[in-house]
Amino acid sequence: MKTIHILQVPVSITSYEEIIDIISKTIRNNKKFSVVSINLNKVIKANESNEVMKIIKSFDCFIPDGISVVRTSKEINDRITGIDLFNRICDEHKKIGAKIFLYGAKQEIVETAKNNLIRKYNDIQIVGIENGYNKDNNYLVNKINQSGANIVFIAMGSPKQERWIYENKNKINANIFMGVGGTFDIISGKLKRAPMWIQKLGIEWLYRTMKEPKRLKNVPLQIKYYLKLKKERRNIK
Ligand code: UDP
Repeated sequence: MKTIHILQVPVSITSYEEIIDIISKTIRNNKKFSVVSINLNKVIKANESNEVMKIIKSFDCFIPDGISVVRTSKEINDRITGIDLFNRICDEHKKIGAKIFLYGAKQEIVETAKNNLIRKYNDIQIVGIENGYNKDNNYLVNKINQSGANIVFIAMGSPKQERWIYENKNKINANIFMGVGGTFDIISGKLKRAPMWIQKLGIEWLYRTMKEPKRLKNVPLQIKYYLKLKKERRNIK
């Protein structure tokens, strides 16, 4: 899997098929594989903090999740979003032999997300859940280990979820670690994804700001980095 760098942030040149294949093999061979999705906000956070940059670089796969990231380099053919990869893994849960642990979001959200997944796939193995507000990390690590999960999805926002993976993946017997941001909110039906035309314009961040005004404070940096990426597009071909 080739990696390029956009404003110093790694981005993988890959596809859903390749990642699903790696995930299956990683589980079969009992190895570890961690996935981070790269979008405008990750680019901002990594460039504004050495610690976040170090954490992001510790991952194995950097999916090009944000359209403004995808458009920056001609080498990136496919946009791979966190939520679509999550859905693909669930679609292929049998082939992968997935035993899934959902960690993050509010209690009722993660419960509804689990129930919706079971309703959709009926024989999917969701071996455990935990909300993202439980502060007892030892309890959580033990709970995940006892569940026998081989895939842990972490939905706590960034960089919280990436930091948690960085600090805990070696304490946990699971194989696959992936930060999925607001995915449980969407799977539970609490939040709707931006319409496709907004995604295509590359302004999903603006849509999310309008839906969740607490994001307003991020807008100046988002505009600054949005323009930086546009400039970068001329440099990276
Ligand atoms: N969240 C969590 N624990 C926390 C903070 C956030 O579980 O301490 C959850 C929150 O409930 C939501 C998800 O993380 O389901 C994504 O949060 P947010 O939208 O703030 O993250 P972003 O997508 O902006 O990184």
